[in-house]
Amino acid sequence: MGDAGSVNSPSSPSPEIPPPPAYTDAVLTIDLDAIAANWRLLRTKAHGADVAGVVKANGYGLGAAQVARKLAAVGCNLFFVAHIDEGLSLRGAFAGRPFAPEIAILSGLPPGTESLFLHHRLTPVLNDRDAVRRWLDAAPPSSPASAILHIDSGINRLGMSLATLQELVTDEVFTAYPWRALMSHLACPETPTHEQNGRQLACFRQAQSLLPDLPASLAASSGIFLGPDYTFDLVRPGAALYGLNPLSNAANPMRETVTMTARILQVRDVDRGMAVGYGAAHSMSSSGRIATISLGYADGFPRSAGLMGAMSIGGFEAPVIGRISMDLITLDVSQIPQSIAVQGAMVDVLGHNRSVEDLARDAGTIGYEILTRLGNRYTRVYRGQA
Ligand SMILES: *Cc1c(COP(=O)(O)O)cnc(C)c1O
Repeated sequence: MGDAGSVNSPSSPSPEIPPPPAYTDAVLTIDLDAIAANWRLLRTKAHGADVAGVVKANGYGLGAAQVARKLAAVGCNLFFVAHIDEGLSLRGAFAGRPFAPEIAILSGLPPGTESLFLHHRLTPVLNDRDAVRRWLDAAPPSSPASAILHIDSGINRLGMSLATLQELVTDEVFTAYPWRALMSHLACPETPTHEQNGRQLACFRQAQSLLPDLPASLAASSGIFLGPDYTFDLVRPGAALYGLNPLSNAANPMRETVTMTARILQVRDVDRGMAVGYGAAHSMSSSGRIATISLGYADGFPRSAGLMGAMSIGGFEAPVIGRISMDLITLDVSQIPQSIAVQGAMVDVLGHNRSVEDLARDAGTIGYEILTRLGNRYTRVYRGQA
């Protein structure tokens, strides 16, 4: 345990750092033990495949460094992020630790960044022929860094075509190179009956037959649940780690990982017929009481989920009324004992009675978007930090 005082020389006293405020307006609690449990559960479902951790977009909004350190502590040794910057900061998150995981960059290898990848031992995901050529020029087979070959098997988004791979394998330098893996990505894995799954699987198998010795990776969260044909050697879950349901038509097998609470700033009495909030969009059908909480769309609570759903205060349900403001949300607390819905009380926003996915449905979006848009104004509390 660090004694911060002992590292400062007497001639350079550290400035007074105020203690963290006892008062917080909103709290986002992230349960890293639940994320680790989700990773372990996915491992049991992966038919023997290795399980990477996808921590792009700051670990789906929950904190890439904290999530990756926790997963590394339970055995995950490969992480995927989208951008080089994300990879560099994740590399930094492991500085001074005994274990340096492999970090792969999904968005590719921009021209001129080859030495950066090599220097920081980042693994590029190569999405086209030019990137393959530049990697072969920059990274000798003996280099400690390697690269992943990405085939687009039908999502038509990113990756080289099967035809390109067929041409590349005619080159001995290419086939002799110790590539880290061959990967592709599914478009419709949350719909097991979708015929595109089988078409993409067939295309990926053709690619695999050209480079049969490489570890192969096709499935992300939902793909893992398509069965043993889809899991190959390595799976790449993101969403399911964070508790989102990888199954579209069954109960969620994953543990929830986030809870959010926000403080009541003010409680007011209102008369029948009074309007609440911007646009006067809600009109009171009878007299009652309104609690205004310290949370808004700037915190990632979607404005499109205004005028619907509920939060809870001490176990009592408080409907959301009126529009969501940037920093404020109004709740109808008319039915809640006055001693409970009081100024200063904390309201359960997410994770207690309303899941991330419930909120997503109300807002007309998906849980992925809710998580990745969580703002930075909360006090963040991590449980089970490694
Ligand atoms: C985002 C992403 C993943 C993770 O997907 P989830 O659905 O969140 O599990 C895996 N692979 C690729 C290529 C991705 O872009």
